[in-house]
Amino acid sequence: MRNSTGRERSSAQHPGALRGVRLGILGGTFDPPHVGHLLAAVDAVERLTLDRLVLVPASVQPLKAGIQTASPADRLAMLRLLIADDARFEVDALEIERAGLSFSVDTLSVFAERYPSAERFFLVGADVLRTFDRWREPDRVLELATLAVMTREDGSPAAVLPEGAIAIASRRIDVSATEIRARVAAGRSLHGFVPDAVAAYIAAHGLYRQGRECSSGS
Ligand code: ATP
Repeated sequence: MRNSTGRERSSAQHPGALRGVRLGILGGTFDPPHVGHLLAAVDAVERLTLDRLVLVPASVQPLKAGIQTASPADRLAMLRLLIADDARFEVDALEIERAGLSFSVDTLSVFAERYPSAERFFLVGADVLRTFDRWREPDRVLELATLAVMTREDGSPAAVLPEGAIAIASRRIDVSATEIRARVAAGRSLHGFVPDAVAAYIAAHGLYRQGRECSSGS
């Protein structure tokens, strides 16, 4: 999915190449992406022995409509900075290119069509699972990929999993995009919360400053 010259290329160009491959898909608003996302992604790759993990930034997350503050283009750029040159990960902009509300069932349908012979895992945090019954076509979601619920290793009560879903142990460091946006608005440093390249992007583009509703871009 990456090549020697570009940041990435579409695996759709090589659909047969993913036969038997273990493919993870991690969606989110990534507003902004942070070290919690990165470590969860690393854990998922290791625990599920994934060959590849695709991070998919939402255009508009249906259950978060109205609270996003950075544009899709900025969130996409920051997500690329988050994964840097780590060959285990890639970013796919399909939800942003589709625009409008981003429903997991639509995205998973695309991955199922592109990679019918890959073993597909759809990764969600236990917090996200709490809203599962409000998702569009939850039963179809469960058919299109194995739902892999990232569960904390700290002994907190296990989430009740839908049938067919699996739990994977994953650390969850106490950081959220909400906290990071608040830190920027308060003029506090992001060092340690996001990779330095992401912090530099946020500063250079004036994201999340108080009073700003949405940055420029699409
Ligand atoms: P917000 O604070 O705006 O709600 P968020 O930081 O929770 O955002 P999302 O982009 O909504 O981030 O999350 C994408 C995925 O990453 C979800 O499955 C979520 O459970 C997971 N995730 C978010 N924060 C962490 C964290 N600190 N550790 C592990 N996983 C996380």
